[in-house]
Amino acid sequence: MNIPMLDLKGQYKRIKNEIDTAIHNVLDNTNFINGPDVHRFESNLAKYLDSRYVIACANGTDALQIAMMALKLQPGDEVIVPSFTYAATAEVVGLLGLVPVLVDVDKFSFNIKVEDIESAISERTKAIVPVHLFGQAADMERIMEIASRYNLYVIEDNAQALGAKYTFSDGTVKHLGTIGHIGCTSFFPTKNLGCYGDGGAIFTQDPALAERVRMVTDHGQRVKYYHDIIGCNSRLDTLQAAVLDIKLKYLDEYSASRYGAAQIYKELLEGINEITLPQEMTYSTHVYHQFTIQVSEKREELREYLASKGISSMIYYPMSLNNQKAFSSISRVGTSLKNSEMLASTVVSLPMHTELTPQVQKIICEEIKFFFSEN
Ligand SMILES: *Cc1c(COP(=O)(O)O)cnc(C)c1O
Repeated sequence: MNIPMLDLKGQYKRIKNEIDTAIHNVLDNTNFINGPDVHRFESNLAKYLDSRYVIACANGTDALQIAMMALKLQPGDEVIVPSFTYAATAEVVGLLGLVPVLVDVDKFSFNIKVEDIESAISERTKAIVPVHLFGQAADMERIMEIASRYNLYVIEDNAQALGAKYTFSDGTVKHLGTIGHIGCTSFFPTKNLGCYGDGGAIFTQDPALAERVRMVTDHGQRVKYYHDIIGCNSRLDTLQAAVLDIKLKYLDEYSASRYGAAQIYKELLEGINEITLPQEMTYSTHVYHQFTIQVSEKREELREYLASKGISSMIYYPMSLNNQKAFSSISRVGTSLKNSEMLASTVVSLPMHTELTPQVQKIICEEIKFFFSEN
């Protein structure tokens, strides 16, 4: 038996005809860069998210870097990031000579601990980067309130929760990525809206900022061969846009499958004392990029046992950023990071994808139960 984390092939097979036709159209037209599919996808995604501007780029890491460049953050400026996230979030901060300030996460939502943000702010702080980890929102209402009080930019890292929505206390509902000054996402194949290579996008509601973002993605030029600012070269290629434009139509369906699978996991894994199940926050919908449990003891043994039965599992992420070599000399630790460190040593993500069936989930959960009954 082989139960993988993901089944990209099964997902492709269901939409193969549409995808193959779209790819062949691009090949026939040879518009490989900035072809019509890129603009169509940007405008369809803008409509879907109810975002005024969507600017596609080469990948999610670039999206974060471009956002920080467009906001004119300067070397030495501090940027608040959660210490439990994928390293790309803080990496671009370091790459631009900015200082990542690490703040702990909440142990139930896995997202930045809002109570800790204020004590990490200094005179040099310019921005906060909430990450919507594993498919649900950081507490954006409180983050936006703090940001406005301290005059900080908010850059949402929405690489893992595209399609999820946040509900404000007045009942307003917004798509994640469209709440902060800038939102960023990734279309890496394993993300909830994944292409067949690399891709990313930036969202904003501000026309001046949108124009700067576009310039930064295109060598700092507004008019071809006239370069006003230092930019980079970061494009979504036409083939990827063609794939994404088709997959976007299925995104809500994909999110619903993931959510359904998560509910089945929760039901089947309930009552195992050694496991803490993921929790859904009331202010956010959850699109379950990952289904991540916490295992207080014998994590490695559990993973080895599952592997011996052909069941994949992964640890996202095995080390909090404060303990990563790359960040030790360039970051500042803003608060106690005890939840981040605890999570790094307890989390396990189980197979989660759009093709998961209740039968397969039953096998996975029975093996987990069996492991804990024997150990
Ligand atoms: C995947 C991911 C990124 C980077 O996206 P790429 O397209 O791989 O560059 C950034 N932040 C988070 C939280 C991610 O999960």
